[in-house]
Amino acid sequence: MDRGIFLGGIPGTTSRRGFLRACAIATAAMGLPMEMVSKVAEAAKDPERPRVIWLHFQECTGCTMSLLEASHPDIASLILDLISLDYQETLMVAAGEQAEENLHKAIEEGNYILVVEGGIPLKDDGVYCKVAGKTAVESLKKAAEKAVAIIAIGTCSAYGGIQAAKPNPTGAVGVQDIIKDKPIINVPGCPPNPHNFLSTILYYLTFKKLPPTDRWGRPLFAYGRKIHDHCERRPHFDEGRFVEQFGDIGHQLGYCLYKVGCKGPETYSNCPVIRFNDVEVWPVSVGNGCYGCTEPNFWDTMAPFHDRLPNIKIPGAGIQASATEFGKAALGVTAAAIAIHAGIGVAKRLATGSKSEE
Ligand code: SF4
Ligand code: SF4
Repeated sequence: MDRGIFLGGIPGTTSRRGFLRACAIATAAMGLPMEMVSKVAEAAKDPERPRVIWLHFQECTGCTMSLLEASHPDIASLILDLISLDYQETLMVAAGEQAEENLHKAIEEGNYILVVEGGIPLKDDGVYCKVAGKTAVESLKKAAEKAVAIIAIGTCSAYGGIQAAKPNPTGAVGVQDIIKDKPIINVPGCPPNPHNFLSTILYYLTFKKLPPTDRWGRPLFAYGRKIHDHCERRPHFDEGRFVEQFGDIGHQLGYCLYKVGCKGPETYSNCPVIRFNDVEVWPVSVGNGCYGCTEPNFWDTMAPFHDRLPNIKIPGAGIQASATEFGKAALGVTAAAIAIHAGIGVAKRLATGSKSEE
């Protein structure tokens, strides 16, 4: 199926430099050696692109928008070059009955990856989210039947999302709570980092299978370590130097944000390593704590977002482990994270010819 029929204004136009750069970053993000870049690039150039059907349910479309966000057009273009996007409600030109017909045809052909964005309401027979007269749960089950694998993009489709926050009035759940007979991988985040989605696709293309996951179904290469373990403010935590309130001298000096609500000690994600956009920032680097958006139920377990986590041992607060203990515990994972971050820096320099980027 020609995706040009469906997409409006988002051509897959990756430059060669952008293509190599994105492949190199994805290779490093997956924790693979740089020698694998050529294999990943080879898989990415395979003309037999996997067909993708992308469904939207209860969500804000932030996952799609962050993926297409203008500061990393090469990623958006590369993803659109890697896959044959047969159906995507935000991007396709078709609407109404024509769109429905396209979806039915794509499903009938089978053998596609199903990407799901948004939670699925189950309460009252699923009436709280309907498209073309069908409930989200009906549409999901129908599209899952002939899918070879499912990627749940964003915390909503992975675990229910914000609409599942107590008291969860619509009974929202994630894909894995409904579909039990297909390989499913969760790429959570609110929104998830586009690099993690791209790397998941590239892993599938390179190795013809989904990457290994943790107990929450997240790819280990992206969600295998805690934010706290490779945060640049970690030395301040270990030394007991904290921001007490936003704007104070500690905030200006870049101290640890734990006391103003950072959930990094309880959150698994590679945000400090892979960072966001092409300006190399992430929330903590610009002065706001992590909200824990990659964790199941973060809307309930991590809120209030600017209150400190209970029961975390803080150096200098009487219930602490020593900085040495923290340092020892973190040493292995921090070294691994530094190696990946260094690999990403090297990958970017190799791809751009820059001597200073990192
Ligand atoms: S609590 Fe947050 S800001 Fe402080 S070191 Fe951990 S992740 Fe970084
Ligand atoms: S820093 Fe925390 S809240 Fe921010 S994107 Fe990463 S996991 Fe989500």
